[in-house]
Amino acid sequence: MSTLSDLATTDELLVVSDFDGTLAGFHPSDIYDVPINGDSIDALARLSQLPHTTVAVLSGRHLAGLQKVCPLESPVIFAGSHGAETSGEPSGERGPDAQQLSILQDLDEQLEAIVAAAPRAYVEKKPYHRVVHVAELAEESPETAAEICDAAAQIRAPGLTSMRGKNIVEFSVSGENKGTWISRRRTLIGATGVLFIGDDTTDELGFATLSEADLGVKVGPGDTAATLRVDDLAEVARIYQELAELRTLWARRRDGSSRD
Ligand SMILES: [Mg+2]
Repeated sequence: MSTLSDLATTDELLVVSDFDGTLAGFHPSDIYDVPINGDSIDALARLSQLPHTTVAVLSGRHLAGLQKVCPLESPVIFAGSHGAETSGEPSGERGPDAQQLSILQDLDEQLEAIVAAAPRAYVEKKPYHRVVHVAELAEESPETAAEICDAAAQIRAPGLTSMRGKNIVEFSVSGENKGTWISRRRTLIGATGVLFIGDDTTDELGFATLSEADLGVKVGPGDTAATLRVDDLAEVARIYQELAELRTLWARRRDGSSRD
């Protein structure tokens, strides 16, 4: 496991951040009205301007929704739908093929039948994913919310994967997940060190791809493959700030020695 100091001096650094629960808190009913941690955003923006440093926000949100809610800008890379859609990559914006669309259509019928009985549960439709949301329902009726998630999680189909998260069940027809995305991006830029911070079940696939030269940080409680754990968004911000400070010093030293 790497430390922040190791990562700050690595030749080619890749910083990957989850969004919801990592850079922003939650809102029970409006996913575009979430409290965003400005300190984390500032630190990631600074990191993205440094040499040999790539910053990406990797989220389960669809790409357009992620870009709408997250105040960062290029050169920060946005990867939505768990990496199935990446900003600046046309291949990632093609959309599902006929077979995937057919699987999604069958899934929609089954999910609509499950949530029909509970008006405060709903199905979010993303290009490659469907997400059953029960957060609002869980506040007044946790048992019904759990029943809906249990019923949804029973659905199986070839080419379809599902995963449970915090008050959600998420279905995917894409082969991409946070782990495959991080691995691909690491190879693409030749990263020698990766920092990945996330809070939820889908982030575990990302943590699982990390190696000795990397650092995975889990936000909040729960089983994890990450090597470090922090309690909340303020601690996440401190990590990004410290890395931005250390990486800035590294870049200055490097710059200075190359001029000698
Ligand atoms: Mg999250």
